Amino acid sequence: MSDIVQVAIPRPVWQEYDYLVPEGALPPVVGGRVRIPFGHSVATGIVLGLKRQSKHGAKLKPIDRTIDAVPVLPADLLHLAAWISDYYHFPIGSVFETMLPREALRGRNIDVEPEKQWCPVREAASPEFKNAHRQAQLWKLLEKRSPILESNFRELGVDRKVLEALDRKGLVRWDYVEGNYDYRRSNFALTDEQRIAVDSIVPNLDDFGVHVLDGVTGSGKTEVYIQVIRHVLNRGKQVLVLVPEISLTPQTAETFRSRFGNVAVLHSMKTNIQRFNVWSRIGSGEHRLVIGTRSAVFAPFHNLGLVVVDEEHDTSYKQAESLRYSARDLAVVRANLLRIPCILGSATLSMETLHNVSRGRYSVSKLSHRPGTAQMPTFNVLDIRGHQLNGGMSPILVSKIRQHLAADAQVLILINRRGYARSVNCSDCGWIATCTSCDVKLTLHEVPVSQLICHYCEGKTPVPESCPDCESDRVRSVGVATQQIEETIRNTFQDVPVYRVDSDAASTSNKLERLFKELHTQQRCILVGTQMLAKGHHFPNVTLVAVIGADAGFLSPDFRAPERTAQLIVQVAGRAGRAERRGEVWIQSHDPFNPNMRALVEEGYSGFVRREQQTREAASMPPVTHLAVLRAEGTNAVEQEEFLEDRLNDVKNMHVETLGPVPSPIARVSSRWRYHAALIARNRRHLHEALKTIERVSVPRSKVRWSIDVDPADMA
Ligand code: ADP
Ligand code: ZN
Ligand code: ZN
Repeated sequence: MSDIVQVAIPRPVWQEYDYLVPEGALPPVVGGRVRIPFGHSVATGIVLGLKRQSKHGAKLKPIDRTIDAVPVLPADLLHLAAWISDYYHFPIGSVFETMLPREALRGRNIDVEPEKQWCPVREAASPEFKNAHRQAQLWKLLEKRSPILESNFRELGVDRKVLEALDRKGLVRWDYVEGNYDYRRSNFALTDEQRIAVDSIVPNLDDFGVHVLDGVTGSGKTEVYIQVIRHVLNRGKQVLVLVPEISLTPQTAETFRSRFGNVAVLHSMKTNIQRFNVWSRIGSGEHRLVIGTRSAVFAPFHNLGLVVVDEEHDTSYKQAESLRYSARDLAVVRANLLRIPCILGSATLSMETLHNVSRGRYSVSKLSHRPGTAQMPTFNVLDIRGHQLNGGMSPILVSKIRQHLAADAQVLILINRRGYARSVNCSDCGWIATCTSCDVKLTLHEVPVSQLICHYCEGKTPVPESCPDCESDRVRSVGVATQQIEETIRNTFQDVPVYRVDSDAASTSNKLERLFKELHTQQRCILVGTQMLAKGHHFPNVTLVAVIGADAGFLSPDFRAPERTAQLIVQVAGRAGRAERRGEVWIQSHDPFNPNMRALVEEGYSGFVRREQQTREAASMPPVTHLAVLRAEGTNAVEQEEFLEDRLNDVKNMHVETLGPVPSPIARVSSRWRYHAALIARNRRHLHEALKTIERVSVPRSKVRWSIDVDPADMA
């Protein structure tokens, strides 16, 4: 019997704490929670170890009570937390704060009733509903989709009251979900390439290995995941499928549901309680197939057999604040801890993953074509140097659009900037409208009202009628954005429906989902939108993809920008020509001979990658080297710069190269100055040794707020 527990506390602290277990208390377990006094308050701690002695001896405080009699966190997550604290140089306490759902941190008890699923009573064939339209509707849904899990009610729009009405009529029944996986649903006959991919993974389910699925858009990567998952579920194990953003890709969850019947979904749109319930049911083993976004990598699976990371290149896997982890990388680490396989899939693999493939660390399977008769789209660059543009579009592009509409097809226009125009300036004196609190140009918006908006602090100001500096009335907007393209299109094609998809227009995922559904049945229409359109969604009737202004990304100083730009173009192109009709892609460009662009258009993504690998090698940038960015922000610019200078001095004699400090690309946001500096090392160990020496430097947050970003997604 031990009477001392070693506890992690979800607060920004670097160490664990020892507490006494008073006599008669329910014995705590490793991986379970305890309530403990901490400072002047109480906290929920996670038990990391049990012991008989503590060097703090008699000064130990007792725990208030034991919350869990059985572990809620499996051993691998406890190891993962320690790994994360080391790797991301983040306080262990805060790591647990990120890992656990809010309700678990509040100490909520885990006593969830197993989830129910509902089915129609088939014998009650075609009942009469008369005027009960909502009951009739729900009945139809149940007939089509049953069983329906309670955790999916919200997404499917199931109203509990209506369901209860059906229940009272004896038309529906429920049972507990547990173990009810329906594997018998039909499978496609796999293509040869899909078969090879599945066969290379299935014999290795008992060991760690990263299997990369390099498949062009629409090549059937999902089908490969499904067939492998089937094997893992059949062995009684759990499966985690990570996706970048569920709201933008409801189809993915839908596909898995239609194939397995029973899928739990874990993402940040759910309420705290819903998340806690799904989380607990993953812990109890009730949920075995889980689709989730970034933070689902921390779900408490006790019997995990496979992790799939779909669209592994997507930057939404990287958390941009607080604990700056990459869920993709943690998926690999967790799989390694558990000695289970991990699948990374994408049509536009990240430079990091490709590097690991070329080093022989990851194995790779290729899907180079689409199943059936669906063909890949053709790529074209539209040289617009010296062209007269109308509302941002070249006449050639407009005539292309007309052609495709005439063939009753849909058109997608990517313009990766929301608003009406990029900025507003004075043609006489050169004045540019800028935000008073940030160092950025203001974006002109015309919808819902005409105003200037700062995309960094969301500050709004009226559009000036004359120049505030020289009083000239020649105040003009420059650079197009989604609203302007939408306007141009509406004026040009008056009888064709136009939909704008950007974060201003598509505020809710339900709205977006409805729109996407509508598009499947609709004929001629035009979609105008940002990168939201490039995410995983299939638009089978789209045959023309036009790309406006995206190629500017090839010229950005950020070393990752060309990679992101190539990924965006290839991904949005992949939305086209899914069905029987072949698609074309037209990229409107001011710089048509940009070598990155040429490589991409002539040789495809792999051609771009070959070039980019050489560029990274020559510049000694990741993935050839290892990089961390230090960022500091505060009201006094000098303090930020000096703070970072001191940190670089701290690591001066270590085996790292340092860059900076310099003002960040956006040097001021919300009246706070931002500086950054970089640490680069050929050897990863050297980078971490250097970071270790500075990770705990503390400075009043009122002066300097600073952070370490290991493997940053960008330099901004
Ligand atoms: P990806 O994820 O690679 O972009 P998907 O997995 O979404 O592609 O597959 C694209 C389309 O091809 C889907 O409509 C899917 O149902 C279909 N599909 C996949 N595999 C096969 C197959 N072996 N035979 C016929 N159709 C398939
Ligand atoms: Zn002026
Ligand atoms: Zn601002």
